Amino acid sequence: MAQTKITREIKRNAEYLKNQDSPATSMLQETPFENLCLASQAILEKAQKQGRSKCPRCHGSRMFYCYSCYVPVETVPIEEIPIVKLPLKIDIIKHPNETDGKSTAVHAKLLASEDVTIYTYPCIPDYEEMQHEIALIFPGPNSVSVGNVPLSLQAQCKMDTKGLSAEPVLKCAKLEPSHSSIMSEDKLPKGKNAALKKIIFIDSTWNQTNKIITDERLQGLLQIELKSRKTCFWRHQKGKPETYLSTIEAIYYFLVDYHKEVLKEKYDGQYDNLLFFFSFMYKLIRNAKDSAGKK
Ligand SMILES: [Zn+2]
Repeated sequence: MAQTKITREIKRNAEYLKNQDSPATSMLQETPFENLCLASQAILEKAQKQGRSKCPRCHGSRMFYCYSCYVPVETVPIEEIPIVKLPLKIDIIKHPNETDGKSTAVHAKLLASEDVTIYTYPCIPDYEEMQHEIALIFPGPNSVSVGNVPLSLQAQCKMDTKGLSAEPVLKCAKLEPSHSSIMSEDKLPKGKNAALKKIIFIDSTWNQTNKIITDERLQGLLQIELKSRKTCFWRHQKGKPETYLSTIEAIYYFLVDYHKEVLKEKYDGQYDNLLFFFSFMYKLIRNAKDSAGKK
């Protein structure tokens, strides 16, 4: 059973590599992660040579980490994995049909475990009372850029306290404006600026994302659209634009922009280690492609 899964996995990767026209493959020739401030990946190189190892919790056979338990495997001691401290909390909402092994959301949980929580849809928190300090990464007609988040949150709060709900709330029948006005008057200390405390990412394929985004519990939240960047994900979805990022890429780019444009601090690679696994796996696939090409 496990063996066929591995074979399938290798086959699938090989298919990606064969398809020279796919944007993901052409991007594999570039070296986008050369300037990152990364911790030593020697432990991953060593683990890779040893092959699959056991998950210390579920005893499943995995490479580098267990995507079900969110822990590294036995050949990758947790002390040798970098810890990334984030400036805000991150919730990741995962679609139940999304294959765990394919998702990069677990990278965030492994590297910033204190600040990241993964939820499997439809089991998600009720964000209604935290609307003035939460935003959702999702492009849409009402979405704002990262730099505009503080002002937009403030504007949303003001509208709420006046009894006028912010625009996105109108789309939701369940959230009555009167209710949200009571809520924000209680929760928002007078004269205090609205600050972003938590950011929500949706981890699923494009089609499944649309199902999650229409959930009433996510209505009325400020939506953020990230700057356009090309993905390096080797499992890039066919037919989707190159700017459709994997979850860990989206988290990383959001944090870099947030650091520079909202915190107004110099970026010195503070979050680069979020790509600790991603950049390593990217290199593995690229090298495999190179050697496949030589044959
Ligand atoms: Zn496990």
